[in-house]
Amino acid sequence: MFGFGGWFRRRALTRAAIEEDSWQRALERCRVASHLDAAAIARLRDLVTLFVDSKQFTAAGGLELDEAMRLAIALQACVPILELGIDSYAPWAEVIVYPDEFIVEREHVDEAGVVHSVREPLSGESWAGGPVILSWADVEASNPDEPYNVVLHEFAHKLDMLDGEADGIPPLHAGMSRASWHAAFSEAFDDFVDRVERLERLEHRAAGSRRRGRSAEVDAASLDAQWAALPLDPYACKDAGEFFACASEAFFEAPGRLDAVYPAVYRQLADFYRQHPLAGGAQGSTFPVPGR
Ligand SMILES: [Zn+2]
Repeated sequence: MFGFGGWFRRRALTRAAIEEDSWQRALERCRVASHLDAAAIARLRDLVTLFVDSKQFTAAGGLELDEAMRLAIALQACVPILELGIDSYAPWAEVIVYPDEFIVEREHVDEAGVVHSVREPLSGESWAGGPVILSWADVEASNPDEPYNVVLHEFAHKLDMLDGEADGIPPLHAGMSRASWHAAFSEAFDDFVDRVERLERLEHRAAGSRRRGRSAEVDAASLDAQWAALPLDPYACKDAGEFFACASEAFFEAPGRLDAVYPAVYRQLADFYRQHPLAGGAQGSTFPVPGR
């Protein structure tokens, strides 16, 4: 069925096979693969082998990029495409890794026509048709409690960009409804923005009370706890594209939290990724997989 492509892949799997020890070490550290069973892990290993073989890893900013680091990135990048296939990452070829946050200079033109140059530190970036850029310090800082995972985030943008802009709607599978996707995500987005804005207002008022020497209506510890209990990284408020990327981080890093607050988003992501991390498996049996 796959003809030359199948032959090419079998050859790559043999030529670029990952040593057992290296694979096991990488797998032990890969929290977001912990919901997968042995058969899924075997398929994941093939995907990671093809990924490492087909993508150019470039170290930047003086970073020394070793095999364990490449595998850590490749493994986390391949969990989301376990049921989608390596071709989901076909339109681009390079992963660039910096030791820490990298500075990007951007220009924007304001309403008066004045060009402003902005220097912005980033933990990761995905260029349309171009490389994925990551900060290694942020790869290591991935954390289910936030939930935060820069690899999942940037590669979610890559999937989103398969049909153009990173607009929060990747190409959906046959049987999935664009209207249902939009309804689930827009309702959750509006709710999440409300939650974050409410916390920002409380924080602002608490700071004002402290300045005036009065006790705040909400103490700092309670505010911290409310920020920490958010189901997504507050960066999700930026726009629909960032909301999808942050929701994808949560889907694999903290699926219970995402499902508890935004079950419709969890369900849409389970249909899109064709995985069910909450139930401890790929292709969860409660989720029909249309049009495979
Ligand atoms: Zn982003």
